[in-house]
Amino acid sequence: MPLSFKPFDQMTKEDYRNMGLKVGLEVHQQLLTRHKLFCRCPAGRYSSAYDAEILRHMRPTLSELGEYDGTALMEKKTRKNIYYRIHHDTVCTYEFDDTPPFFINDTALDIALEVALLLRLNIVGELHIARKQYLDDSIPTGFQRTGILGGDGWVPFRDRKIRIRQLSIEEDSCREVSDVGHDHVFLTDRLGTPLIETVTEPDLHTPQEAAEVGQLLRLLARGTGKVRTGYGATRQDVNVSVAGGTRCEIKGTPQIWRNPRLIYNEARRQSSLLRIRQLLRERGVTLETFQWAAQDVTRLVGQTSYEPLRRTIAEGHVVQCVVLRGFDEIVNETTQENTHFAKEFADRIRVVACLTHTPNLIHSDVGAETSPGRERVAAVFVRRRIRPLTGQEVHHIVRAQVGKLGDRRFAPPAQKRWYLIGEVLREYMGCVDGRRLVAWVYNRLQVPPPGLVKTGRRLKSERSPTVGVVSWSADKTDKRRTKQNFVLPECV
Ligand SMILES: [Zn+2]
Repeated sequence: MPLSFKPFDQMTKEDYRNMGLKVGLEVHQQLLTRHKLFCRCPAGRYSSAYDAEILRHMRPTLSELGEYDGTALMEKKTRKNIYYRIHHDTVCTYEFDDTPPFFINDTALDIALEVALLLRLNIVGELHIARKQYLDDSIPTGFQRTGILGGDGWVPFRDRKIRIRQLSIEEDSCREVSDVGHDHVFLTDRLGTPLIETVTEPDLHTPQEAAEVGQLLRLLARGTGKVRTGYGATRQDVNVSVAGGTRCEIKGTPQIWRNPRLIYNEARRQSSLLRIRQLLRERGVTLETFQWAAQDVTRLVGQTSYEPLRRTIAEGHVVQCVVLRGFDEIVNETTQENTHFAKEFADRIRVVACLTHTPNLIHSDVGAETSPGRERVAAVFVRRRIRPLTGQEVHHIVRAQVGKLGDRRFAPPAQKRWYLIGEVLREYMGCVDGRRLVAWVYNRLQVPPPGLVKTGRRLKSERSPTVGVVSWSADKTDKRRTKQNFVLPECV
C-alpha cells in the first residue's frame, strides 16, 4: 500500500506535525566590501571573460588521523576535469593557494559583528580561522576559510523565539559555468568574496515558516545597508528531516519563494523512504540480509526493438541486469509527486557516472497497464525478456494459447502440443526454459507423445527433480488407445 499524501496546497500544520517535520536554515549573505576577505582582489566584480584556464583533478590524501575522507573518494570516482577560468583583474595567486592569506578584511569583520549583535549572539573572545572541507569542486584549494563569530542567539518570530546556533564569516566559492559529462567549469571572480553564514536551530515546523524566517534573516542583514543585494547575493541551505529520518540538506536555493515546495518534496521523500524501509524489514530484508546479484543479459535482449537498449548493444556495450532480492513491487513505490523509488537508484547512477540526464533505468515493477508511452514499452519488455516466469505464469500462458487454438479439430493432439510449445517459446523467448516447458506441457496433458509409452524413467535431458517428468518409449499397441482417449485435462 503506497503512502497517501495530500497535495502541497492542502497540507496543514497538523499534517506536518504528524510527519515530525523539522527545518533549519543556513543563510549565506555576501557582505558589501571593496575587497575579498583574505586578499586585496576586488569583490563583486563579475564577468564571464577570462584570460586563462587552470585544470585540476580531485586527489584524496590521508588526513592527520590516517583516514581518507569518504566524500573525497566518492568525488574521485567521478573522474572530473575541473576547469577554473581566471581573469587578471579579479583573481591573484592567493585564490589558488600559491600565496598565504593576507590579514582578514576589517570592513567585512565589522559588518559581520554588526549582524551578529542584531541576532543577539554571544560574541567569541578570539576569532579562529579554520579550513572547512569543500569537495564539490567549487573552491580550487578544496577548503574554505571560515571563522565562528558567535553563538546562542535568537530572533523573534510571531509568538516565539527562533534560536540562532551560530554566525560565521567565510569566503564565497566559484560561480559554476557548466557541469557536463566529466567536465566541470567554474568562473573564479566570486571566489573569496566575504560572506556571513547564519545557522538556525531546527525550530521551524512548516515549509511556510521556513520561508518566512528565511526572509526575516535576509531583511535583518539588509537592514544594516552593508550587504550585497541582487541575484545570488543571499543564498540559503535548507536542512530538512522528518521523525525517524536523517537530516538532508537542500543546497543553495537562491530564491526564498521556492523553498516551501522543495521542503514539502523532501519531507515527503523521507517519509516514503522510511515506509519502504519498514516494508523491506517486514520481508526480512535488512542491511545484513540484503542480497543482490548482477548478470550479463546482452545476449538475452540482443533482438530487442527497444531503442535505448538496441543502440547500446549496437555501440558494443553490455547490458547488465541487477536482481534485488525481496524488492518485488517496491522499486515502483511512490516517493514524491510523479516520482518512484527507482529514481533514487537512477539519481545515484547519474552522479557517479557523470551523466547530464537521468539514466534510462528499466525495472520489472513498472505498471504496464497505467504507464504511458516509453515506460510501458520498457515494462512489457522487462516482463517478457528479463524477469523469469514463474510456474504459475507458464500455466496461464499455455492456457491462453490453448484458448486461442479453439476447436480441437484444428490439428492432431501431438501437433497441437508442439504448436503450443512453439508459440510460447516465440512469444516469451528468453523467459522460459524450453526443456522445462516441453516437460511441463507433456506432464500436464498426461498424454505420451505419439509412438511413445510411459516407462517410468526420467527423460535424459531433464534432470531437475522439481519438474518430475516421466519418459515415454515406443510401443505400437499403446499408440491407438492414447490417440482415441486424448482429452485436454481440466487444468489446461
Ligand atoms: Zn586575490
